[in-house]
Amino acid sequence: MEDFDFENRIVSPTEIMGDNDSDNPLRPRTLDDYIGQEKAKQNLAVFMEAAKLRHESLDHVLLYGPPGLGKTTLSGIIANEMHVNLRITSGPAIEKPGDLAAILTNLNEGDVLFIDEIHRISRAVEEILYPAMEDFAIDIVTGKGQMAASYHLPLPHFTLVGATTRAGQLTAPLRDRFGVSLRLELYTPEELARIVTRSASILNIAIEPDGALEIASRSRGTPRIANRMLKRVRDFAQIMSDGVITLQTAQVALERLEIDELGLDANDRRMLSAIVKFYRGGPVGLETLAAAIGEEAVTIEDVIEPYLMQIGFLNRTPRGRCITKAACLHMGFELPDAQDGQIRFDC
Ligand code: ADP
Repeated sequence: MEDFDFENRIVSPTEIMGDNDSDNPLRPRTLDDYIGQEKAKQNLAVFMEAAKLRHESLDHVLLYGPPGLGKTTLSGIIANEMHVNLRITSGPAIEKPGDLAAILTNLNEGDVLFIDEIHRISRAVEEILYPAMEDFAIDIVTGKGQMAASYHLPLPHFTLVGATTRAGQLTAPLRDRFGVSLRLELYTPEELARIVTRSASILNIAIEPDGALEIASRSRGTPRIANRMLKRVRDFAQIMSDGVITLQTAQVALERLEIDELGLDANDRRMLSAIVKFYRGGPVGLETLAAAIGEEAVTIEDVIEPYLMQIGFLNRTPRGRCITKAACLHMGFELPDAQDGQIRFDC
């Protein structure tokens, strides 16, 4: 079986080398510059304005949705608009309750603490988070046995912004402690074209509108992928068309990178064909499919499936995953004929 390289593929929505996301000039700094996600943006604008009027810190915010959609960016915008500092960490990075206590006691009044992948914090760390979020205080126990002592430490009022790709994996008590919960959706090609055009102007890349739309349509609804493709297409444009990204350069470049007109790459195509070849179109259970293509189930769920479902290529059913007729037509798979019914579209 060929090795899948989901981590470093150009259409990977998770960060790969070269994205340089930590100090990224492409990250919008204000809500006005943040393109799309209108519903989340409008609500957030109201909550921030109201908190400012009351001279209070913003209520804790939970952001959920697939990777690369702008959760980290939004936390930076919240800090910027509220005129406070941003502290970034992640669930797996906070190993012990003491690690979290150290972060919390170093915050200033009003600060935003961003915890990425918050569904991955341990139970022990979560226990510290509850009183911190609710009462802005933590209880620390030092020493053991008779030497044990407990301290009640008040904390500054801070805003926790938690990000997760899977809200369903948060425990109910943690989820309930977020006053604001915002779901980020995959972007439309038009929104992504605006993001590509904005990024191109920041990076001084000349781009024609239909070139931007072409990159946008192949970016799987994800700004991180759109920005990455823009940089790769720029390389082709420098050689092919005097540095200007036209429709044609975008098409040729993305074909050379083996990304088709819908943004599917070789790995998507292999996963879809595995469903057809080995499981007659499905239904096939997630774990079985993961084993068949040598990929982790979470990667399939978080990274590959959201887009395939959005474009109507895959259905998630209680009995497993099923490929759709639209996917077969796009991929050029043989459609089932009435007699042998190779692929079942009834799920
Ligand atoms: P996440 O935290 O959800 O994985 P990020 O916030 O790191 O995603 O966003 C990835 C990149 O996409 C950012 O560096 C930023 O340049 C770009 N981006 C995300 N959302 C937007 C947006 N709404 N408008 C413009 N650019 C965006």
